[in-house]
Amino acid sequence: MQISQRQLFLQHVAQTSPAPLLLEIERAEGNYLYDIQGKKYLDLISGISVSNIGHRHPSVLAAIHAQLDKYMHLMVYGEYVQSPQVKLASRLSEVIPGFESFYFVNSGTEATEGAIKLARRFTGRKKLLSFKNAYHGSTTGALSLMSDPYFRGPFEPLLQDTAFLEPEDYKSLDNITEETAAVFFEFIRAEVGAIPVSREFAIALRQRCTEKGALLIADEIQTGFGRTGKLFSFQDYECMPDILLMAKGMGGGMPIGAFAARKEIMSSLTHDPVLGHITTFGGHPVSCAASLATLETILLMNPEKQAAEIETIFRKKLVHRCIEGISGKGLLLAADLRTESVNQKVIASCIRKGLITDWFLFAPHKLRIAPPLTLTTDEANRACDIILEACNEV
Ligand code: PMP
Repeated sequence: MQISQRQLFLQHVAQTSPAPLLLEIERAEGNYLYDIQGKKYLDLISGISVSNIGHRHPSVLAAIHAQLDKYMHLMVYGEYVQSPQVKLASRLSEVIPGFESFYFVNSGTEATEGAIKLARRFTGRKKLLSFKNAYHGSTTGALSLMSDPYFRGPFEPLLQDTAFLEPEDYKSLDNITEETAAVFFEFIRAEVGAIPVSREFAIALRQRCTEKGALLIADEIQTGFGRTGKLFSFQDYECMPDILLMAKGMGGGMPIGAFAARKEIMSSLTHDPVLGHITTFGGHPVSCAASLATLETILLMNPEKQAAEIETIFRKKLVHRCIEGISGKGLLLAADLRTESVNQKVIASCIRKGLITDWFLFAPHKLRIAPPLTLTTDEANRACDIILEACNEV
């Protein structure tokens, strides 16, 4: 008897949960995925905020092909002048005022790791603060910034000198002191179910960091590259971070991330020690070429208008006895289905009906709405109809 691909997946591809989704996708194009039976799925989660301009965008494919014809890996990061890296860093510095220097890595968690080291090295301090129930990545340093004992406990001891702040709790800002190297922060708290922090709290946090000489690090790994309307969500606040983390949507489907800072801060990684942070594949030329094409595509498509239009459709249409409310901004939205079990039923039903959605790590009762920015109004309406049909069944 022939073993199915699904069985081989379960047997040989390391698993991360006892219940993987097990969709077998053959190809993806634009806002759709197609499984091996030819069933078409509308993508309402963008591979968790990655495919911000849809799957296999033609400009990204063209940039990848053009770079493949020149070179792939040449040398470890930081030694050769590689044109795709130079062009991407220069363009990013033009479109994100305040950030001059970009250190390219391969993933979100590596951006977090790099920023932990940069903040400690630059300030000469040890203490790192982050917010309760924030997710900054799964490697050991990034995991140290995660508060939940369920996720961190089995892997302890993690980094020393970490502590957790409560969002919107002004008193907890007193924990930021002259000993604090950095505070990791999300302007829109993704994994608690897309909850924007208030402008007042963000400004108070920025002020306290400035007063105490601590660096403010914005994790925009999930919120970046147009997802919430602006290129980065901090641009909606009168509040400049010192270090900016990006990944996910940055590569248009290719793996790339970065931590960015003013040159004055970033240059501390070049000495004491020399090679203070190094990587072999960070800033892979093909990923950088894909990323530049992605960035230009997003800038041309007016993400603010697009995200606002589609957000309005979801907010207006998703009215149902099962839905407590919608949180989030732009195309990082969450529908509150009150309980995990109702949410799981609705998600399963949506997937059966050809709409891919998901839940949030720290909000299992919330349904994830994070489609590509290329979602049309018709597709947004269709997605709402499917969610409402699924709600009617529970
Ligand atoms: N920060 C945030 C806010 C994220 O959403 C994620 C990924 N879900 C990460 C960091 C880690 O990114 P990666 O999975 O690429 O390591």
